[in-house]
Amino acid sequence: MTSRDEVVALDKRRVWHPYTPMRQYVEEGSPLVVSRAEGARIWDADGRSFIDGNASWWTAALGHRHPRLIARLQRQSEQLCHVAFAGVTHEPAATLAEALAEVAPEGLGHVFFSDDGSTAVEVALKLSLQKHHNEGRPDKTGFVALVDAFHGETLGVTGLGGVEVFRRPFSKATLPCHHVPRPPADERDPAFEVAVAALAETLEQHGSTIAAVVLEPCVQGAAGMRLYAPSYLRACRRLCDEHDVLMIADEVFTGYGRTGSMWACAHAGVSPDMLCTAKAFTGGVLPMAATLTNDRVFDAFLGEKSRAFYYGHTFCGHALGAAVAHEVLSVFRDEAILEHAKPKAALIAETFARLGAREGMKDGRALGMIGAVDFATDAGYLGDHGWRVYDEALRRGAYLRPLGDTVYVTPPLNIPDDELRCLLDIVEASVEAVRTEGGSPSRPWRLE
Ligand SMILES: *Cc1c(COP(=O)(O)O)cnc(C)c1O
Repeated sequence: MTSRDEVVALDKRRVWHPYTPMRQYVEEGSPLVVSRAEGARIWDADGRSFIDGNASWWTAALGHRHPRLIARLQRQSEQLCHVAFAGVTHEPAATLAEALAEVAPEGLGHVFFSDDGSTAVEVALKLSLQKHHNEGRPDKTGFVALVDAFHGETLGVTGLGGVEVFRRPFSKATLPCHHVPRPPADERDPAFEVAVAALAETLEQHGSTIAAVVLEPCVQGAAGMRLYAPSYLRACRRLCDEHDVLMIADEVFTGYGRTGSMWACAHAGVSPDMLCTAKAFTGGVLPMAATLTNDRVFDAFLGEKSRAFYYGHTFCGHALGAAVAHEVLSVFRDEAILEHAKPKAALIAETFARLGAREGMKDGRALGMIGAVDFATDAGYLGDHGWRVYDEALRRGAYLRPLGDTVYVTPPLNIPDDELRCLLDIVEASVEAVRTEGGSPSRPWRLE
């Protein structure tokens, strides 16, 4: 066995980490070395355990290593792991697609598989461009996204992203995109009508060159858990229809019950033309994703061979991933995950409302199994209060990944009640420590 220190030494010599200033990391970083995970907990190499307050980048919706997912993975691995998926199919993919269509918002009956959230959105962008192209409107090549949007990492979706630090180095090489204001959380706030009017005006002026509006329904995750009024989605649906623009819902974070219903679009009773899902899609077990479309999109690719979608990733429809993803849907149903999450969500909402009312804090908010609060600073994503809370929480036994000065939890949906109470107590105590005493010194290498 390699010791913890040896792992860190090898890592620092060779590994380039995501979202990490590497010099600061190598000189001062003291990474968690995780050796095991189960349920809502992860264990480090020294045997200490931590509650996983963010379900490992929002993926482990059913907790780590759910026994049914592991059993399904083992069974499938004895039959077939992967096979090319063009002109070939298999039971795991076909039955998963059927099960997905059954739980999807109305009309989303076609499933295109890919690997992760970014590729699921990338697929949606390309589909929207080619749909218009196939129908004789090749000038529809632009996109509309919300300010502060986050849609992933590929060059295609980078232009849609609104988080300035992520986008800046690439901004001259990205797709054309109009960014419109994010509506407020309360539809009675005058800013709501302003946001709807801005979208209407953008489509009015540029609709003939716009392929699609892309949005994270109801909550922008990476921007700092920013909630907005669901009725905006209805306005968006209506405006998209008026201007022959497709509506793409990026439910990579919000899907699978994170916001309290299976899909965030359901809060508004809206069906988009396409829906992207990843993250919790395989319960965090394997990288796999899907883009769902309605007939209006699918039918535009029928007819002449040249109208087909000549696109596909090598691991499309991965059999292991598909088998596990199907089991995820069965567990959601059999264990009534959404129903059992309701009282847990109420506990999260109470805690974060209380935290938001403390001096020096603001905007305590919650939606489903998401709770968030901000330090009342102006530092945004590069603020370090959240990282001080991270340090305090680790000492107390929880792993919380902040977004700058935003502290949030997105635990597994089935986190046991006692573990959830423990997590929320740690969040309160850690925020309190930073709020009143400043917490531990900031670590500049964690400026992710
Ligand atoms: C995480 C995320 C993505 C990107 O997913 P990856 O699996 O990291 O490629 C896209 N959209 C949203 C809303 C996300 O939260």
